[in-house]
Amino acid sequence: MKELCAKPLDAIIVGAGFSGIYQLYSLREKLGLRAKILEAGAGVGGTWYWNRYPGARCDSESHTYCYYFNRELLETWQWTERYPGQQEILRYLNFCVETLDLQKDIYLNERVSDATWDDQSQVWNITTKSKSKFTARFLITAVGCLSTTNKPKIDGLPAFSGDVFHTGHWPHEPVNFDKKRVAVIGTGSSGIQAIPEIAKQVEKLFVLQRTPNYSVPARNRPLKPNFHLEFVKKIEFWRGKMQRSRHGHPWVAPDREVKKMAKEESLKIMERAWLHGGLSFRDSFCDVLLSAESNEIMSEFIRQKILKTVINPDTANTLLPKDHPFGTKRPPIDTNYFETFNRENVCLLDLKANPINGCEPNGIRLRDDTLIEIDIIVFATGFDAMTGSIEKLNVRGRGGLELSNAWKAGPESYLGLTVAGFPNLFTITGPGSPSVLTNMPRAIEQHVDWISNLLNYMINSGHVQVEAEKSAARSWTKYVTNVANQTLLPKANHSWYLGANIPGKARVFMPYANGLDNYRKYCDEVARGKYQGLVFT
Ligand code: FAD
Ligand code: NAP
Repeated sequence: MKELCAKPLDAIIVGAGFSGIYQLYSLREKLGLRAKILEAGAGVGGTWYWNRYPGARCDSESHTYCYYFNRELLETWQWTERYPGQQEILRYLNFCVETLDLQKDIYLNERVSDATWDDQSQVWNITTKSKSKFTARFLITAVGCLSTTNKPKIDGLPAFSGDVFHTGHWPHEPVNFDKKRVAVIGTGSSGIQAIPEIAKQVEKLFVLQRTPNYSVPARNRPLKPNFHLEFVKKIEFWRGKMQRSRHGHPWVAPDREVKKMAKEESLKIMERAWLHGGLSFRDSFCDVLLSAESNEIMSEFIRQKILKTVINPDTANTLLPKDHPFGTKRPPIDTNYFETFNRENVCLLDLKANPINGCEPNGIRLRDDTLIEIDIIVFATGFDAMTGSIEKLNVRGRGGLELSNAWKAGPESYLGLTVAGFPNLFTITGPGSPSVLTNMPRAIEQHVDWISNLLNYMINSGHVQVEAEKSAARSWTKYVTNVANQTLLPKANHSWYLGANIPGKARVFMPYANGLDNYRKYCDEVARGKYQGLVFT
């Protein structure tokens, strides 16, 4: 059994994506703590290390999807496109690790399999799959909201003789699609990005769609040569804009309601936003997620775009999203998604009308007995989001309390960052935080700064332990649910925001929906009030 650090560490951080990298820097450089990252992958980058599928690209604009905490990083790195692709983001995160000299404190290929609080020694004992052991005073999970893949159980899948891939665990070697017949299951953001790219490479592509999805054109383009210089000059302007935004994007929804506007005027606004492209389309009005009537106007606008784009009327009708309001699932943005269904080598299959019965050695059999003969299955079926990777750590807190047991009826946390009964545990982008409803680097920097300030406060005031008060965690979780219930967000049936995509998972709306701006204010107030809601010993 290897023991990589004989002396207890100040902190173990699990995960080397955006969250873990900044947390390590923050503890080491700002607080002077001894901290290490344990990362399951063979490289850093998190999401961008694992999701290498064709078409994988960011939906946040590049100059907003990066760290803002360090001037050198901001001034040196130059993005090339409006939305950076997977490889560019991965290069960026490796550049950050090198520039900040963090490699020596990152242990790769170390998947944490167990983390147990020792009440006597007041430390966390952490074990990895390769049997390495670590001891640390603080345990900080930076395991990602979307890092445990969801691969649905399909009868007979092991007997399928072709290749099977998941978008969220894509191989490092190129996948050869040439002359292949391929099925993609799933039409969320990952499927919608992968389908147009895979379609260009294969002999035949079958898209197996369960729920039709809304999608807005991304309108990606190369950035102008002077973009970087202009951006750096105005960095405080961008920072301020994102701090005032609910989603951490550089725009704020204007104070106008769709339903109260003349039809021609709202159409003009939507048309302009559609041409501009990207996630800001959703924020063309302030009430899209608040009023069913307003939402329906935007939803119908997108349906009309689909009907105009897709030539075959049956295919177009099958692609029309009708079972959930626009924006109640994370809205994808795309490059030629609906246009792809006009290709002769692409065939859309409606799983609602004709579900999968099972797999056979040479393909997928549908309920009506059709056999789709294929060489490759691509699962674009998403993730056990927000809690999946945290629960897999097998965290046991005070008195052996198991986190997965404590969260059986749904995750309960204070601010999404701390859990009652689990001393000195912090969950970056945990359930109950705004995380996945935001441009995540902005939320991550806020979480990390808040955790680091709290640790600094503890060190200065001689506190050894901290954890959420049970009552504070309970009321925060109730508040998160109430806030979501005032919006249309819980109306999407299979949404991963609700845990509804995973059979047996508690159905609870997990992210905080009252905006990153309000969340930041609340967290700052808690800190100013000497961290009310937390118990120190
Ligand atoms: P991650 O990047 O997920 O990193 C977590 C790390 O923890 C992983 O490397 C994982 O291997 C490691 N880990 C997990 N469990 C263990 C364990 N037991 N032991 C050791 N290591 C472990 N967000 C946006 O804001 N804008 C976007 O456009 C956007 N696009 C996305 C595209 C895709 C395909 C996906 C899947 C997500 C996207 N996201 C986007 C969300 C994205 O996850 C975040 O933006 C961000 O990358 C999260 O960083 P993180 O460090 O918190 O988590
Ligand atoms: P997802 O949004 O959860 O979509 C999964 C898809 O698989 C859905 O179409 C779902 O259908 C389908 N599916 C799931 N189980 C199925 C089953 N048993 N049979 C048939 N179909 C099934 O997952 P994702 O596309 O990977 O995206 C997850 C999140 O990652 C996004 O919401 C986003 O936050 C992030 N992401 C972002 C980007 C980006 O910004 N660039 C790109 C990719 C991912 P139902 O709808 O019927 O459940």
